[in-house]
Amino acid sequence: MVTSGSPIRVDVTPRDAFERRPRLFAALEAAFPVKFQVGNADADAAIVFVTPAGGSELVSRPTLTLLGEHETHQSIAAVAFSDSSSVPRPFRGQTLTDSSAGQRLPSTYDDWGTALATSQAGPIWMARDREFVAGSRPEELGPRGTLREQLTAGRFMGLLPLAHFLRELSIAASWEQPQSTACFVFDDPNLHWWSYGYLDYRELAAHAEAHDYRVTAATIPLDQWYIHRATARFLREGQSRVSFAVHGNNHTRHELDRFDDPDRASGLAAEALKRSSAVRRAGAEIGPVMVPPHGACSVAMLEGCLRAGFDAICAEWPYWWLDEADASSPLAGWHPLDRIVGLPVIPRLHVVASDRDDMPFRAFLGQPLVLYAHHTDLKGGLDLLAERADEVRALGVDSWRSLGNIAPDVFSAYRFGENMEFTLYSQRTRIAVPEGVSRARFVCIGGKPSETALRLELRDAAGQREIAPGEAVEVGSGEIIATVVATPSAAPTRGGWPVRGAVRRLLTETRDRAAPVSNRIQARASRRLAANAHRVGP
Ligand SMILES: [Zn+2]
Repeated sequence: MVTSGSPIRVDVTPRDAFERRPRLFAALEAAFPVKFQVGNADADAAIVFVTPAGGSELVSRPTLTLLGEHETHQSIAAVAFSDSSSVPRPFRGQTLTDSSAGQRLPSTYDDWGTALATSQAGPIWMARDREFVAGSRPEELGPRGTLREQLTAGRFMGLLPLAHFLRELSIAASWEQPQSTACFVFDDPNLHWWSYGYLDYRELAAHAEAHDYRVTAATIPLDQWYIHRATARFLREGQSRVSFAVHGNNHTRHELDRFDDPDRASGLAAEALKRSSAVRRAGAEIGPVMVPPHGACSVAMLEGCLRAGFDAICAEWPYWWLDEADASSPLAGWHPLDRIVGLPVIPRLHVVASDRDDMPFRAFLGQPLVLYAHHTDLKGGLDLLAERADEVRALGVDSWRSLGNIAPDVFSAYRFGENMEFTLYSQRTRIAVPEGVSRARFVCIGGKPSETALRLELRDAAGQREIAPGEAVEVGSGEIIATVVATPSAAPTRGGWPVRGAVRRLLTETRDRAAPVSNRIQARASRRLAANAHRVGP
């Protein structure tokens, strides 16, 4: 975060270790309210790079010691985290594989403190009061490298001890990060009937209640010409754990990634929102979050969604669906929510196909844990969702929300005296300003849209006003609502009824709805075959 005042001063020694990692330390200064200095004995905390031969200094301030000699480093492989309360909550008790280079701590540390992480050779990360020591080191970022590359499934021991150290210092100095939230997302279901393929709304709602999770169905705006009133009523009356979001517009091939003009893209995005409003009118909950069909969305379409009034899109990280140039910033994938050309992105993982070992890292960074699926993933029943809900809870995440409720109110805050700095990750953020704070800055992260202007509006007891991002403004204690407004805003394009799209969609829906039936017929046929085989057998 880009703080204007009073960042935490962190001494780095030796100078050489600092100077060999300029991009890494610059990215960390942008990620945390810290300022790195070399050789400042008065700094608030210290990071010491030493070789095992060098003795550790007597410490009087929070200190992270990073041991290592590159020649003796090996791949760490399996890392087992302990249950200690000094281990960040998402990692407690987890075992993860790691390819970072490092080594076990020398035996002089054997009785030194609490082991936080252990490899097969011995402890690699330990803590004692405000002191930490690790047997691995972060690497300098490549020219287009990101911090997140060193804090992810398969590669984390180089950076995790340092990121955790800076995070703890920041929290101790008043920094607040959002808590991770969770949701299941199903692509494609509509409200034409009680069920959609293997997904049955009544079963799902009861199961979600029993296992304490929430589900959002990403529904196709084209499908909203008809809504089965009884299903919508059921979802409304049960205060249902099942809600909706927006899935493309017509769900045609490359629908959201073929646009390169924000004006035309915004017409489509506005039409998608307008058609989707039928779900709300029927009484079910639908949030203004775009879930792109097939996971792909162009930059122009992100800008279109911004203008149409979407709160976020929900798509996969790493951003394989974006050109590298659009996605690259040293902090891409690091924030609670990234913004790409101004629009917040809620990252998601496939319920089966993705590497779920990345979930602890998302939880550590305060990112939502969104697991998506298709109705066919429920072929084996709903147990899959119960298992995944347990996995999410094991990371210390138990705030399940609809996708529409995950998007707003995500921000971080840092206070120094009467001043506060808020980093806004959402388009709409409700903030409680504490007593004693009189000035605040509001900052938005990420790249700006090319052809859309973003304004920042504050609404508090005194009324509504527009402010410039980053500008220090007078505030009173109490509630403030900060809203990012895009101009020009978008109006729906007046298109005719897309006959071909509708026919194609109807064929797909017929296939999806027939899937459980044909599966039952197949199962019955194979049972009959087996029975016959048995009968004619010996
Ligand atoms: Zn789809």
